[in-house]
Amino acid sequence: MDKIVSLARRRGFVFPSSEIYGGLGSSYDYGHYGVLLKDNVKARWLEAMVRERDDIVALDSSIILHPKVWEASGHVSGFTDPLVDCRTCKLRFRADKLDEAHCGRKPSKHPGETPDCDLTEARHFNLMFETRIGPVEETGQSVYLRPETAQGIFVNFKNVAQLARRKPPFGIAQIGKSFRNEITPGNFIFRTLEFEQMEMEFFVPPSEVDEWFRYWVEERVGWYDRYGIRPESLRVRPHDAEELSHYSSATSDIEFLYPIGWSELEGVANRGTFDLTQHTNASGTTLEWVDAGTGERYVPAVIEPAAGVNRAMLAFLCDAYDEEVVAERERTVLRLHPRLAPVTAAVLPLITKNSAMVEKAQALRDELRRHLSVEYDDGGQIGRRYRRQDEIGTPWALTIDEQTLSDDTVTLRDRDTLAQERIPIGAALAHLLERLGAPWSPPARPR
Ligand code: ATP
Repeated sequence: MDKIVSLARRRGFVFPSSEIYGGLGSSYDYGHYGVLLKDNVKARWLEAMVRERDDIVALDSSIILHPKVWEASGHVSGFTDPLVDCRTCKLRFRADKLDEAHCGRKPSKHPGETPDCDLTEARHFNLMFETRIGPVEETGQSVYLRPETAQGIFVNFKNVAQLARRKPPFGIAQIGKSFRNEITPGNFIFRTLEFEQMEMEFFVPPSEVDEWFRYWVEERVGWYDRYGIRPESLRVRPHDAEELSHYSSATSDIEFLYPIGWSELEGVANRGTFDLTQHTNASGTTLEWVDAGTGERYVPAVIEPAAGVNRAMLAFLCDAYDEEVVAERERTVLRLHPRLAPVTAAVLPLITKNSAMVEKAQALRDELRRHLSVEYDDGGQIGRRYRRQDEIGTPWALTIDEQTLSDDTVTLRDRDTLAQERIPIGAALAHLLERLGAPWSPPARPR
């Protein structure tokens, strides 16, 4: 993890939040390449969930919802973590994650492992951030920052089902920020106070719920595979009965082998009819499906694939990170899927003092950037420029050299194979678009 954190910081993907004030625990800010990578993760998810399908529509609901939403959903009473305090070191730990925490006196041990540790009984602590609406603290209405995007989907079920003219099975997909007052130390961007979720609620006739559950587990594993996560880094872990959330009759976690070990990347849950029933009872608005033709009516059951943007980004970074020695020099390379990479192509004039080369390179950059994410780099030796692009995962570099000036061809360098080929400058865009559209899988790791 240290290597990922250091690369992320060095190249401006991610850095600690509020750093000039000493940082704020479990909060991170995203720099230029981090934003571009995160945007690509979200775009690929939306593409797979909405654009490539006829049965899912998009939604963007508010972060602050009516407080009754969270009472009905069970979050006010049940969205808690069990916490223990240590009377000796005064630190607080999640009772169910003691094996991941470090004792305040002896960080090499877990809390409870030294004779000095004096842990309290576990107490429940709500994870929702509370705030108030209105200018007057005492009279303002108490509200919460949403801890998941899903409830915004359920409370809009009626609007969307009517307007989208969809009948079950159909889904509503949403990407947005969620907030949780997590007390466990972060592990970089794996667990943070605010994070983005990509959630989709798929409403189905209750009799079809099991087959749709299996379908979505497979579909979501397929998405990670499509974007280059190695099969050996991914596994599906069904929850035991005692681990299931209050609303779920079946949940499988899609886990990734992070440097901290196997951990949840995404959860796929069978939420049954719990949420629509709860909101129907609490709001008085009946949330059900009514077939206008036959008059048939029922409360649909829900399958929910819930993924984290930041956790997915971390998984893609970890799986892509590689170090190798090429021509006796070490290089660090991010073997990101070309459709996730922050920059698709770098345009590099070989000799930056040669105005004809610079002119050609800038014209090529201008043409490419109307369609692709492109970076023009004229700073330093060509080898160092290639290495900079390798570190941010740019799959292709186009170099304009002496020969370009005589025959209008450029060198295309491949990040993974390091192969260089000459292509006509006029065909560069079509060439890149074709390669971008082709399936990609990561090169095998040497054993
Ligand atoms: P965990 O037990 O690891 O905290 P969870 O089971 O509570 O996760 P869900 O409520 O299922 O998580 O949320 C769906 C997804 O949202 C998770 O799989 C994860 O990718 C992401 N997620 C949840 N909490 C956080 C967080 N604090 N920081 C970053 N991502 C998160």
